[in-house]
Amino acid sequence: MKFGGTSVGSPERMRVACDLIAKEAARRPVTAVVSAMSKITDLLLDTTRHAEADDQAGIDRGLETLEKRHLEAAADLVAPEERERVCRQVSELIGEFRRIVSGMQMLGHRPPRAVDEAIAVGERLSALLVSEHLLSRGIRATAVNAATAVVTDAVFNNASPIMDATREKATARLMPLLEAGEIPIVTGFNGATADGRPTTLGRGGSDFSASILAAALGAAELWIWTDVDGIMTADPRLVPDAKILDEITYSEAAELAYAGAKVLHPRTLAPLVERGIPVWSKNSFAPEKPGTRIVPALGAGNSGARAVTSMGNVALVSLEPASSAVSGVHIMARALDALDRVNVEILALSSSSYRQSFCFLVRNDELERASQAIETALALELTHGYVKGIEVNRNVGLLAVVGEGMRGASGLAGRIFTAISREEVNVIAIAQGSSELTISVVVRRDGLEKAVRAVHTECHL
Ligand code: ASP
Ligand code: MG
Repeated sequence: MKFGGTSVGSPERMRVACDLIAKEAARRPVTAVVSAMSKITDLLLDTTRHAEADDQAGIDRGLETLEKRHLEAAADLVAPEERERVCRQVSELIGEFRRIVSGMQMLGHRPPRAVDEAIAVGERLSALLVSEHLLSRGIRATAVNAATAVVTDAVFNNASPIMDATREKATARLMPLLEAGEIPIVTGFNGATADGRPTTLGRGGSDFSASILAAALGAAELWIWTDVDGIMTADPRLVPDAKILDEITYSEAAELAYAGAKVLHPRTLAPLVERGIPVWSKNSFAPEKPGTRIVPALGAGNSGARAVTSMGNVALVSLEPASSAVSGVHIMARALDALDRVNVEILALSSSSYRQSFCFLVRNDELERASQAIETALALELTHGYVKGIEVNRNVGLLAVVGEGMRGASGLAGRIFTAISREEVNVIAIAQGSSELTISVVVRRDGLEKAVRAVHTECHL
């Protein structure tokens, strides 16, 4: 069971999380994975930035908020006779964070590795509070730092698990606890390299932590507790009649997460594929609701589109060879290689025309990194005028229609485009992979919401 930031965001929410853990643990072994309390990771990151800028007041403010929020929670959640001990442990963890931050202040720099060690403190604090609350209720639980269970590569701030090593380490660390009837409360978000350097899995990575551990331990099910009722046919803020989906496939959920649906971290489902472990996405604020079940494959009869999602904070980058004498494929290869090296995620890619111009969509916050990488990689071509300049359009949005049942269904793309054009929204770029799982459409930013509603209605979602 994984609990997101809002599901452990206050003492009251932590009590509910513990109810849900305890209820299930009475029936079968449970491992819990917890995020930091809501907004804490942002606070920790901000504080490291204040340290880098040598802004003492900013650091002090950060530490004060951190302390207040967790000490108050500790006082609320723990039996009186244990309070002093737990508050001391909270202060010790915050002391660890303070020391790392002082180092950054002295250096005037935030080494990625130190950032990872620093921000994992958020999850270590929430794991401590949840396990101590269970203990004060007489339920045996142990806080576990995932650095002792999840083995990753050394890509600090965005690490990936090394599954064989993780299986071994997680089993050695967690199985003895489970066998002894203890509930491990494991930190989400973090891990460590094989030689022990602390890492994190990228923002929102606790979902991923949970799936890594579920796969490593051979879990029967993974339950992801969030603050929404499940995975929906569209964002309900844009589409008031959006509905909860009872069931979707791993592939559909992954596509939706990738294209901006905020229910699951995009990398979550990959570790589960091999064993086919089913996932429930459930609302800890309304646990009686069934939620969405995510499964390897759906039965027959699930045809057509399943959901539409959108992203507004994106930019379209276009490149065009200056003449047909220049190989467009060569330019494309160089550009994509450059983007890969700086870890920029390409949300959609499209290429056409005999000039072999091509364009791709990236997140706004990765745009500068993307442009710089391409400018450097193509410096020669740009100086000699083999490539027209890099064109950036920020006034765009991405709409993606997802559904395994779209495969081989003729006419669907036509209906989607007709629905968008009826709203007088111009389509700027389109992409559909040959898997036919997703149709991605780039439209002008101011037409995005209208287009999403039109497609949702057109596809009878
Ligand atoms: N606390 C981390 C973050 O905010 C991980 C997570 O919540 O999933 O990114
Ligand atoms: Mg989260």
